Amino acid sequence: MSGPQFVCGRRVRLPPSFLLLPLDAPARVVRCELAEHPPDHEHMAFAAERPGSRDEAVWAAWADTDSEVRFHVLPDCDTGNDASAGPEEEFCTLYAGHIPRCSWAIEDPESAVEMLLATLPPL
Ligand SMILES: [Zn+2]
Ligand SMILES: [Zn+2]
Repeated sequence: MSGPQFVCGRRVRLPPSFLLLPLDAPARVVRCELAEHPPDHEHMAFAAERPGSRDEAVWAAWADTDSEVRFHVLPDCDTGNDASAGPEEEFCTLYAGHIPRCSWAIEDPESAVEMLLATLPPL
C-alpha cells in the first residue's frame, strides 16, 4: 500500500438547465469525488439519484480545459472494503469502473473538518 490519497475535490457549478430537470439534485455546486487524478481524466461528481433506480445515479463530468458539464447515468460501484465483521464496513459511493481508489480509501480533508465541527457543542 502507498500513502494516503486525497480526493480531487475540484468544484463545478451545475448548469441551470440541469437544475430544472425533475431530479432531486442535492447541490448546485458539486465536487469531484475521484481520488486525485491526471488532468486528462474528466472530473466526476455525483449530481443526483436516478429516479426509479436503486443502483444507478446521474454523474456530472467535466474537464479542466472545457468547463461544459456533461451528464452520464452510471451504475453504482458498491465495492465494499471487506471489513465485513464490524462497524467499519463501508461501501464505495462512486460509479462502477471509476479510476482507483474507492471512496472509502480516499481521504477528504474537507469532510474531516466538517465531521469535527459537527462534534463540537453549538456556540
Ligand atoms: Zn477531479
Ligand atoms: Zn469503488
